[in-house]
Amino acid sequence: MTFAMFEMRQETDYVRHHIQKVTAFFAAMRHFRDQIREQGHQVVYYTLDDDRNQQDLSRNVMQVIESVGAEQWGYQWPDEYRLDQQLIEMRKKWELPCEVVDTEHFYTSREEFGDIFEGKSSFLMENFYRKMRKKHDVLMSGDQPVGGEWNYDAENRKKFPKKETPPDPYILERDVSDIVSMIETAGVQTIGEINPLSFQWPISRAEGEKSLTYFIEELLFQFGSYQDAMTSRSDFLFHSRLSFLLNSKILSPREVVAKAEAVYLENKESMGISNVEGFIRQILGWREYMRGLYWHQMPEYAQLNYFEHENELPNYYWTGDTKMNCMQHAIRNSLDNAYAHHIQRLMITGNFALLAGVHPDHVEAWYLGVYIDAIEWVEMPNTRGMSQFADGGIVATKPYIASANYIHKMSDYCKDCYYDNKKKVGERACPFNSLYWRFIKQHENKLSNNYRMSMMYRIWDKYEEEEKNNILNQAELYLKQIDDL
Ligand SMILES: Cc1cc2nc3c(=O)[nH]c(=O)nc-3n(C[C@H](O)[C@H](O)[C@H](O)COP(=O)(O)OP(=O)(O)OC[C@H]3O[C@@H](n4cnc5c(N)ncnc54)[C@H](O)[C@@H]3O)c2cc1C
Ligand code: SF4
Repeated sequence: MTFAMFEMRQETDYVRHHIQKVTAFFAAMRHFRDQIREQGHQVVYYTLDDDRNQQDLSRNVMQVIESVGAEQWGYQWPDEYRLDQQLIEMRKKWELPCEVVDTEHFYTSREEFGDIFEGKSSFLMENFYRKMRKKHDVLMSGDQPVGGEWNYDAENRKKFPKKETPPDPYILERDVSDIVSMIETAGVQTIGEINPLSFQWPISRAEGEKSLTYFIEELLFQFGSYQDAMTSRSDFLFHSRLSFLLNSKILSPREVVAKAEAVYLENKESMGISNVEGFIRQILGWREYMRGLYWHQMPEYAQLNYFEHENELPNYYWTGDTKMNCMQHAIRNSLDNAYAHHIQRLMITGNFALLAGVHPDHVEAWYLGVYIDAIEWVEMPNTRGMSQFADGGIVATKPYIASANYIHKMSDYCKDCYYDNKKKVGERACPFNSLYWRFIKQHENKLSNNYRMSMMYRIWDKYEEEEKNNILNQAELYLKQIDDL
């Protein structure tokens, strides 16, 4: 059997990616190629600058089939709809026998989500998660959840204390200058920064195992408590930074969950169930749920724009050049590290794009490009669904919007900001405040019947007309100057 692997312009160019993301994928592929060659497998590998490279999957595969005289070919089901369609077309066009195998890197198959929710009109993550816990016997004591509760979300919302020192992240240093110069010479358009002599992300199985061990030993015991916290003193806090390893299939979700569960069962008192459950919920719950929903809803999902938003993404998403301190931190983390943790993605950059009425296509192009872990099957339901509510409530029961109140509560950003988190109108008023109320007012027809939003409409109704007008005028002014905020 001959394995074929290609670095292709088809993949580097379908969106503008972060330079660290392109580098990480190529470095991981090359490492995997060497590893399986050492095991005795035959591999045809085209680097991006290989003369044989046609830069297109279909043409490259046919070229390899012809060069080795293969009488059949096969592939593993891809994770993305785009590639799935391309491979289906190739199968149809060619008359060669083809074997397709399923991936072992998820708990669920593509169809399982549809089976679980058959005949249901809503797809609650919590119901899915409980089924996964039972089916895979994770954190279970018989048919009951370990600790007595299924979900400790309420304990996952602590602010990171001033007096605490943030933990050190597990950072690697690898020379990737050959890959980076190849990408630059080829003229691939990328986003963000990289230090080619000291690449920080794990790309091999051995590095992946070390990253996981570091997380389990040094960070997991506080993961849940500070899951939603944000601080200017750390880009990563207690987050695992395992998403690239999981999405590129260097680590399997089963081994990550099994390790987390095992360490909890050995150290119940010191570890705390809420930390471990909070972590396992992200992988066994959210990650599998998002994948299932993606395959259940595609291709229509990619077009959804519930609020009919049309605006452009402000310039500072590409530069970090803004006076809003929270946005500056979240965007700088994204550009410097190809990373931002969940709450920065959801409640800072995602929240702002939603309040600013940005078209979900533009928001998605940014999220799909900028993060090291961004692959459409997981990026799309998170961005279009959870963050932009463009699906009208399939993923989330209400839009994830917040004013400066929430950001101030969960971070230390506001104290060093040019803007005043307490002000809605006037000089230096925090833009999140007036844009928040404008959003509430603008989408009254679509949201006022949502029982989780009703309190916000009651608060809005209590404002005097004059104050309402001042807030709405302030928001319009900010929208006009959106690139200068
Ligand atoms: C707008 C937006 C876009 C996102 N885009 C992506 C993306 O392209 N790729 C991606 O892997 N995740 C995405 N996420 C989910 C989440 O933010 C990242 O998985 C997480 O920040 C990765 O960092 P970590 O490994 O340190 O995660 P941790 O906080 O340590 O969490 C552990 C693991 O749980 C999984 N996980 C956590 N939350 C989610 C979630 N909501 N959906 C799916 N898996 C989850 C990830 O595999 C992650 O590695 C997005 C979230 C938002 C709000
Ligand atoms: S004041 Fe407003 S813009 Fe500044 S950090 Fe706080 S929430 Fe962000």
